[in-house]
Amino acid sequence: MANTKKKTDTKVGIMDTTFRDAHQSLLATRMRTEDLLPIAETMDDLGLWSIEVWGGATFDTCLRFLREDPWERLRQLKKVLKKTPLQMLLRGQNVVGYRHYADDVVERFVAKSVENGMNVFRIFDALNDFRNIKTSIKAVIKYGGKVEAAFCYTLGHIYNNAMFVDMAKKLEDMGADTICIKDMAGLLAPNDAFELVTALKKAVSTPIHLHTHDTSAMSVATTLKAVEAGVNIIDVALSSMSGGTSQPPFETMLHILRGTPYDPGIDLTLVGKANDYFKEARKKYLTFECGGFSGIDPKAIIYQVPGGMISNLATQLKEQNALDRMEEVMAEVPKVREDFGFPPLVTPSSQIVGTQATLNVLTGERYKVVTSEVKNYLKGLYGKPPAPVNEDVRKKILGDEPVVEERPGDLIEPELEKAREMAGDKARSEEDVISCALFPKIFMEFAELRDKGFPPEAPKIPAAASVPSDGGPHLAPSEFMVNVHGESYHIKVGGKGHKSEGKRPYFLYVENQLVEVLVEPLMEVVPSEEGKISPSVGGRSRRPKAAEPGDVKAPMPGTVIKVKVKVGDTVKAGDTVLIIEAMKMENEVHTPVAGEVTEIHVKEGDSVNPDEALVIVR
Ligand code: MN
Repeated sequence: MANTKKKTDTKVGIMDTTFRDAHQSLLATRMRTEDLLPIAETMDDLGLWSIEVWGGATFDTCLRFLREDPWERLRQLKKVLKKTPLQMLLRGQNVVGYRHYADDVVERFVAKSVENGMNVFRIFDALNDFRNIKTSIKAVIKYGGKVEAAFCYTLGHIYNNAMFVDMAKKLEDMGADTICIKDMAGLLAPNDAFELVTALKKAVSTPIHLHTHDTSAMSVATTLKAVEAGVNIIDVALSSMSGGTSQPPFETMLHILRGTPYDPGIDLTLVGKANDYFKEARKKYLTFECGGFSGIDPKAIIYQVPGGMISNLATQLKEQNALDRMEEVMAEVPKVREDFGFPPLVTPSSQIVGTQATLNVLTGERYKVVTSEVKNYLKGLYGKPPAPVNEDVRKKILGDEPVVEERPGDLIEPELEKAREMAGDKARSEEDVISCALFPKIFMEFAELRDKGFPPEAPKIPAAASVPSDGGPHLAPSEFMVNVHGESYHIKVGGKGHKSEGKRPYFLYVENQLVEVLVEPLMEVVPSEEGKISPSVGGRSRRPKAAEPGDVKAPMPGTVIKVKVKVGDTVKAGDTVLIIEAMKMENEVHTPVAGEVTEIHVKEGDSVNPDEALVIVR
């Protein structure tokens, strides 16, 4: 009885991440609201400190892939999760996107999030440049949310505990209700966690929340040591959704803490019930189980790649049919990171570094192709990198362009009204306007589908009998659903490549992942006029096959967002002729040779395949 009071004081708070980070790390964020809702009431009964349900990649994936309104997900979850505070991850000035947004977008996003039921905002900046989280913190305080301010934990010769303690003090001064150690890559070793938490507890009085990943299988030990050092809140995921690139297992942590002064006092049977549910629910998402890369990977400590990033890289490489080059890309990541001034690797810096590493490997030459995001990063538009960047690399990419010293947010004009105009009558609410400001293109596509009667009724595969009897062209659908063993798969024909030896490559998107299938056609429709039939297959015209050195081609399948040359232009080798969006990034396509642009076979909006000649330079 004597230590009852002590027990209450040291009892550790639990945040469960199953509804957000766990499936973001393990299943590319693909879990649908319909699979979260049935178990939400049980989760609400657990007595969690908070439940993480939103933010990070949720927004993007909901709109882009799941064709779900993320705001609606929040409202529906809030209706069931009545007792447990809802938590989200907010990327500071990047909100839930990959670039900096204007202050008006940040503020309205926070206001609407609180209004729709969000309680705790874990706010971070990828570069630990706290100028980038000022606006979000102020907004959360203003609208009555709780501020959980985070610093990103990472390794590298420039980092040490004194630096993190200094960050924590700054966050406390900025108004944090709790401070989060955000160990997004699972790099925090158990003894280091003990020392770090001990140092933090000495320096600040704000409660400390530990977020870690099990990528290198240290998370249980790390979490226990952090608890012993006095950490106040820990992150776990239900065991069937834990481990690997996800969080430490909930049940395991409960067993370990049982009977100690830190015991959170949560009913294991109830946790077991929720866990059984997810054991089944996870099976539905088998296609997103990222080829084994979500398992234990001690190399994460060497590469310092966060869980979500490993699964993203795997998905990107799978889309490029280059999953076998994963090791090379992982080895390239630390090199790019060093060139970029040792940023912690977390969205968006992880995407910026990761995509650049992928491009460096796939193109066979460092920084031959760079994304617009890399340019902006090197210009200082994401904030100040923790250490100086490699000047040679900066010169190669930016030339003599000056670097920005101001808070990047100060350079961005208000964006909300522009988004309102763009969304027009597609926006049904203020929330829609915010979605449009965050992801303009994706939101407009989403809203269009929604207007047509959402969820979209996919065209059915025509039965054999529907082949036109008049002998006219047989137009196959380019997008449809296929049912296999009761599971539905969304199939989209991205395009067809050039036939050789009787076989033709088809680029199919199965659940938005590109699969190249070499087909020996049994029957092919021969268009009466060249190009006339192709709009039914991916909406493009037929282009010549790239064969000559001056046939500029895309390094990967994507969508043309800008054509930067016209016929007759003189170009130098290395000049940018096109910008292509692929892998969520803008990629510049350069001409490998100098000469005159003699033909252009693309226009903005076209989808392109890697074997096509897009621009001809002679
Ligand atoms: Mn995480």
